[in-house]
Amino acid sequence: MSDYAAMLATARAAVTSASAVCRQVQAALEEVRSITKDDKSPVTVADFASQAIVAHVLRERLGEFTLVAEEASAFLREDEHRPHLDAALAAVREVWPDADEDAMLEAIDLGAGDAHGRGFWTLDPIDGTKGFLRNQQYAVALAYVESGVPTVGVMGCPNLPRDMSEPLDVPDPDGCLYMAIRGEGVWEASATDETEAPIHITRLDHEEGQEICVCASVEKAHTDLGAVGQVLEYLRDNHGEQVGEPVRLDSQCKYAVVARGQADAYLRLPTRPGYVERIWDHAAGSLIASQSGAAVTDIFGHDLDFTHGRGLEKNKGVICAPPRLHGLLLGAIKALGIGAS
Ligand code: AMP
Ligand code: MG
Repeated sequence: MSDYAAMLATARAAVTSASAVCRQVQAALEEVRSITKDDKSPVTVADFASQAIVAHVLRERLGEFTLVAEEASAFLREDEHRPHLDAALAAVREVWPDADEDAMLEAIDLGAGDAHGRGFWTLDPIDGTKGFLRNQQYAVALAYVESGVPTVGVMGCPNLPRDMSEPLDVPDPDGCLYMAIRGEGVWEASATDETEAPIHITRLDHEEGQEICVCASVEKAHTDLGAVGQVLEYLRDNHGEQVGEPVRLDSQCKYAVVARGQADAYLRLPTRPGYVERIWDHAAGSLIASQSGAAVTDIFGHDLDFTHGRGLEKNKGVICAPPRLHGLLLGAIKALGIGAS
């Protein structure tokens, strides 16, 4: 097994376990809400539990590693958040039975690694927190970034139906998982069965004449939906393309939906000039989409640049689409002056 294949197997084990924990918390949303007396707490609890599990599995299997993850334990260490701590520990113990409070908090804080190093893992323990709370799409996204380039990526999509004819806004009972190695391809597998043989997937370029289906965020604050509409109108009016209504779903699952050819493009157009995208929101997803044949850049056509710490400081927004369509979208965004201010 190559080093990357071994890293992928480790990442798959970590993400599968974390996804199982997220599923369990989601199945008990109301119970968790009643314990913690706060509407958003289930996602907080699942976020911490997911991060602890991934860090624990990486440590067990790799020994030495650097992890750059979204959460830190300070919140759980506050007295007033005791109920959250207890609920997170109960969730963690489902897959890490001998965990105690200190071990869980310490595992969470393994995520404070240096994002400037030559090689590090980056994790979003639950991407799409709003989707999680709505019982719609969310992702557990883990990638290894080597010399600033995502090289190994695994994304658990616990509510995403594998069957592309199923609706995206209804949680699937099984979910699915995507994995990629740079230069080697992307595979689809079960979200729950770590032993299932993965299926290699490749997407075809978007053919001229086919209706263009773009996916975008559900949350209006995360992408400028008005600008997405303008881009599609531009393609229709200036290139004679047929355009459909954008499909909306939360999280990096959007990259997977493009990777598997269900959507033609993922557009993330900035709602405010100062927002800096976080590396864990894009590392695994962008690798998965690019390894299936999509081009992934920011809205100016620059590669996503993972060499600036925890933020994609040099990038604005995202265009992810197969090459011909990517070119059209980039041209439309430029012509419309989107992101120019
Ligand atoms: P999505 O599910 O695609 O809407 O994206 C969820 C991610 O959006 C979260 O992980 C946040 O890190 C990120 N986010 C938060 N605020 C903004 C913003 N103003 N613009 C773009 N992304 C944001
Ligand atoms: Mg996120």
